[in-house]
Amino acid sequence: MSTVVGRLHITDAEWEVMRVIWANTQVTSKEVIFILKEKMDWKQATTKTLLGRLVEKGALNTELEGRKFIYTANIEEKDAVRSYTNDIFSRICRKNIGNVVESIIEDHTLSFDDIQKLEEMLEKKKAFAVEEVDCQCVEGQCDCNLHHHGMKMGGMG
Ligand SMILES: [Zn+2]
Repeated sequence: MSTVVGRLHITDAEWEVMRVIWANTQVTSKEVIFILKEKMDWKQATTKTLLGRLVEKGALNTELEGRKFIYTANIEEKDAVRSYTNDIFSRICRKNIGNVVESIIEDHTLSFDDIQKLEEMLEKKKAFAVEEVDCQCVEGQCDCNLHHHGMKMGGMG
């Protein structure tokens, strides 16, 4: 995995720009501006600002080719997506990750190929499965800790 990705925080708006670069391998600002004008109704200046920020962050490379700047991605889409999902999963109790993965699978259409890959991955995971997933939450931020310490809080339960 790329080390750049872990340190990067890509905003929702920047993500829109990254998708254009990932899909087209190398593009000029004109092309990015055109695509995002259609989808997001952004002005030229908005897209240019975002491109500039992504270059500053190290997510994009830019090179002058003739009179035009060509943008290429410095991070791979799959690495960025993985970093993004890890970020989301860091916000929930580890004990809950199995349930969340289950609901993600339930809510989305998958191909036979996807299911085949998931089955193979689950089969591999059996070798490393644990009796109970360790909770690493701060006390008071998840149910498990409340139970451990015999605290009872009204409402949510
Ligand atoms: Zn927890």
